[in-house]
Amino acid sequence: MSNQGTMTEAWLLQDGAWTPKAFDWPDGKTLQDIGLLRLDHVGDDCIVDAALHGRREGSQFPWRWLIEYCPDASQSLFFAADDPPSMVEAWSRVLGCVAQRDALETIGPAARKLFRVQHGHDLDAVCHDCDPVEAEQIARTRAASQARRVASFCAAGEPKADK
Ligand SMILES: [Zn+2]
Repeated sequence: MSNQGTMTEAWLLQDGAWTPKAFDWPDGKTLQDIGLLRLDHVGDDCIVDAALHGRREGSQFPWRWLIEYCPDASQSLFFAADDPPSMVEAWSRVLGCVAQRDALETIGPAARKLFRVQHGHDLDAVCHDCDPVEAEQIARTRAASQARRVASFCAAGEPKADK
């Protein structure tokens, strides 16, 4: 580890192809400190889902745009672009990822609640409406096990009935 800082991985989009690159991000510095300006973002102001940064005039940063994407609270992924078409392409792909995740986070719990209302059970259980084959199998297994319990109870009771 050098005291210069950390080389951070970024994927550069150029002519439709992604190339792994890295940029120098000195420890303790913000993206603003290294010459970037936040142009746009989605998510909370503090907990950003994705942010588009542009290189400030006179900055030594290697690319014109840097996109930060946070798929969860613990990580940031970086994508870079140096020409407008690549920036628009990269930014719209990242926004697509954020929109899909938001949709799943909203639709998933709502769908589970609706399913419970309609079936009277959670997704990991079955009934005759949502899985007739599995429900029939469970009913048969239950009946067989009930029959075995009744049979063993009768068998245990036999000696007493025998006197
Ligand atoms: Zn069901």
